[in-house]
Amino acid sequence: MNSSSEELSGVDILIEGDKITSVSKGLDAEHAERVIDATGMVVLPGFINTHHHFYQTLTRNIPTVQDTPLFHWLLESYEVWRQLTLEGVELSTRTAILEMMKSGVSTSSDHLYLFPEQSEKELIDAEIQVAQQIGFRFHATRGSMSLGRSLGGLPPDDVVQSEAEIEQDTERLFREFHDESEGSMSRLALAPCSPFSVTPELMRRTLNFAKNHGLQIHTHLAETRDEEEFCLKRFGMRPVQYMDSLNWLDPSSWFAHCVHLNQEEILRMGETSSGVCHCPSSNMRLGSGIAPIREMLKCGVRVGLGVDGSASNDSSNMLLEIRNSMLLSRLRDKENWLSARDVLRLATRGGASVLGRDDIGQITPGKQADLALFSINGVEYAGAQADPLAALVFCVRMQPVDYLIIKGIPRIDQGRPEFDENSHVSCHNQYSLEMQDKALKN
Ligand code: ZN
Repeated sequence: MNSSSEELSGVDILIEGDKITSVSKGLDAEHAERVIDATGMVVLPGFINTHHHFYQTLTRNIPTVQDTPLFHWLLESYEVWRQLTLEGVELSTRTAILEMMKSGVSTSSDHLYLFPEQSEKELIDAEIQVAQQIGFRFHATRGSMSLGRSLGGLPPDDVVQSEAEIEQDTERLFREFHDESEGSMSRLALAPCSPFSVTPELMRRTLNFAKNHGLQIHTHLAETRDEEEFCLKRFGMRPVQYMDSLNWLDPSSWFAHCVHLNQEEILRMGETSSGVCHCPSSNMRLGSGIAPIREMLKCGVRVGLGVDGSASNDSSNMLLEIRNSMLLSRLRDKENWLSARDVLRLATRGGASVLGRDDIGQITPGKQADLALFSINGVEYAGAQADPLAALVFCVRMQPVDYLIIKGIPRIDQGRPEFDENSHVSCHNQYSLEMQDKALKN
């Protein structure tokens, strides 16, 4: 095995309560409540997904937008998304979380920015409650859109909200669900959708609220050339310049995508210690481009990975995302390639840093007991045993994680999740078809 000081072999990991308390050889297991034999397995910190839109698991693979770039994809997709209700949010949250967990994810954020006029408004509440029921570590972001089509934005008017409404709901969610404590299972961040769906005023007000309440801020940024053109035309600035002008480049912010950055912008993001969520599958799916991740890392930008919403990936499989981030980098000059270990780091410590946490993302005494255990005896790993850790990235896993431990509790045990997947999936499918049918009739 290629080893470094960060990679240990043949050690035991002791978990007490919600924390890892010891990592060393020959720990005494006599008084342990439970012993998991991880012989032949690779044990990693649970992965951390830093960008998603759970609700989009209801609209994967819609035929009319299979082959379109972002702006057209958005315009068409809104026609289906405007049918979303509370029930849809509950179903899709469960689906997305289960799918992520099966690929080793123990923590995720979600970006829900769509509040259709006809729907109940407690959509974020529903996501948080489902995550709590499952025992999944969750960073909800209160998304928002205020720039409807009649004001020159991209989304239809009936899925955007007034700024007063957004602010009121943000305040309520903060009071009810934000837990700042170490080991927290529920945190809130604020996430206006993008420069082309939100007014500068809402960006400013969001930043003020976040600063006053110690919250993180998040949005999509520099995803496509179309967005660049939109910003130049509307604001007279490139996307990163625009966010900088609003004081959004900051250690408490993270941005999804950042595909189209020039060197000056990368330096600026590094010096402001801004965070970036790299979404390689989505960027390939929508033909958006290749984000300059190596340069960002060199300049001190905090970088994590994200599967992005399931209408543009269309999978929440984090192992595939990790693999795609390595492979996509290989289409660039050799000096910009990412190694298997680089991308595993993005999915663990990188993600923790992007979400502003120092209590997860590492297998170290004192950290939260979030662990993913992967056996590597399947046919897909045959012949790849010389470097079991890298095998997880180079080879494509065909089975779920063997064990996923979150906050000290096995939530996937011997490859099986705690709840009935089949009956859930059939409810999800039924809802998804109804939603698409309604869109067709409108
Ligand atoms: Zn997104």
